[in-house]
Amino acid sequence: MFLFIRPYVIFSLWLLALLLLALLLAQSPKAFGSPKLVVLVSVDQLGPGRLSADMPGGLGRLMREGRVYTNAKLDHGLTNTCPGHVAMSTGVNPGKAGIPGNSYIDHITGQQRYCVDDEDDAHRVFGAQFNRSPKSMTATTLGDWLKASSPVSRVFSVSGKDRSAITMAGKNPDGVYWYEKSVAKFTSSGYYGPLPDYVQVFNGDEFFVDGYAARFPKTWEHKPGSHRADDYAGESKKDLRHSGHPVNVGELEERAARFYASPFLDLATTELVKRVVDEERLGRKGVTDLLAISYSSLDVVGHRYGPYSGESEDTLAQIDTTIGELLTFLDERLAGDYVVALSSDHGVLPLPEWLVETGGMHCPVDGGRIPILKAMLQLYWRLYLDFTAPFGDPRDLVGFSAAGGTVSASYAQQLGITVEQVVDSMERYLEEQAYIEEVWTPLELEGSDDPISGLYRNLFVPGKSPHFFIQPKETCLVYFSEGTSHGSVYDYDRRVPIIFYGAGMASGLISEAVHSIDIAPTLGEKLGLDLPAGLDGRVLDLGKLDGN
Ligand SMILES: [Zn+2]
Repeated sequence: MFLFIRPYVIFSLWLLALLLLALLLAQSPKAFGSPKLVVLVSVDQLGPGRLSADMPGGLGRLMREGRVYTNAKLDHGLTNTCPGHVAMSTGVNPGKAGIPGNSYIDHITGQQRYCVDDEDDAHRVFGAQFNRSPKSMTATTLGDWLKASSPVSRVFSVSGKDRSAITMAGKNPDGVYWYEKSVAKFTSSGYYGPLPDYVQVFNGDEFFVDGYAARFPKTWEHKPGSHRADDYAGESKKDLRHSGHPVNVGELEERAARFYASPFLDLATTELVKRVVDEERLGRKGVTDLLAISYSSLDVVGHRYGPYSGESEDTLAQIDTTIGELLTFLDERLAGDYVVALSSDHGVLPLPEWLVETGGMHCPVDGGRIPILKAMLQLYWRLYLDFTAPFGDPRDLVGFSAAGGTVSASYAQQLGITVEQVVDSMERYLEEQAYIEEVWTPLELEGSDDPISGLYRNLFVPGKSPHFFIQPKETCLVYFSEGTSHGSVYDYDRRVPIIFYGAGMASGLISEAVHSIDIAPTLGEKLGLDLPAGLDGRVLDLGKLDGN
């Protein structure tokens, strides 16, 4: 039959084929095709102002060669680690993903819960007495979408923190590893299957004696920060305030905690990542694999010493170096055929003492520090006077988390009062305090068009979010008497970097306003995956430059 096809038919078929090819070529800048590996990188507590194209390592390389969004923010209030990571990986706001905070109080049981805990003992953390899994997550991740469309693709996640590794990976990953202080090793949980031999070899019998951490020095030496002197007022005194911080010395428990608060945690994270890539042969099986990494030490160090400290600058420099080495490693292993997205889960407030010195303090409370224990004591005293005197315990009436307060409905009932009465009393009291901007109840959030209310709405999980959110004033730090924190709705906490790097996108600085929830949909679409319905993030056009 083929023999009878007339020459003009063959010519037409050729024309059709050429047309199809032209169409495909015209579309090709839109899709990555199938890179060997997608690498989702989070640097915990990295504000965008800390990055520059002059950095000599991987962060500098991404700044120079990547597509850098200079106006990127989180789209939710309570800017903490668990919500921040889940926003990056799922493309929905933390509320929709079932993650109202790092921890929350369950309205039914009154119990404080952790965002990645799990009552199922089959999900026990290896070496520990507690369980971890993504059970609380009510949304799927980029890794889940990848595996749904390509079941042979593999998804791995590594971090210094359980909540980061678990939320970046999703429901159906192949391996999730994190550093667990209490077991002084990198570990995983029964949810993910047994800990592979190569992770056990990495750990050794004792991580700090014959495991990978044995190579780290006794003390962490760093040059004084360029922004300010070492040993600055307001820094944590926990492991000294100046260079020469003890790390690999002391009892196992001390070493495990000191290592967690040092840049060496991130160096170990990269080394484990490299072993995962090699042992699992990621990107070398002819399909796209996904690797999520969250570097944790900048956050732990930032909490202790603030972002302008010598400690934090040295940590960032080491992260820059270690990411540079990782990219070189991937260049070599995957012949450069990989895509990177880098972002962060939140920023941080500089030390109040530094803000006072540099003129950045706007909090009306002198010095900007509101000691949390004192604030809580005052709140409980008020609750005691209003509701539980003389013999009741106000701590049974209201539990506080980082977001706000949760009232025990059953105790309120016992006392013959309503939840609303308690919320009302707390709201009136708090709004009289100089450090409070606003107290938000769910009803107020619903009826408000204030942009701040939207940030809290995006975080709201019924039955888990508090009965009232507490919004401190800008630069007021409700925290300990040393160190600093994040969690607020203000730009210093909400601004994050977003960088895409790899083939098929136009590099440069992009000023378009974007959010971290846009990362997963954008990558998903570029990989040609089916995106789930109801995503909050949008697909960014990676081919366009400003002004085009
Ligand atoms: Zn964090």
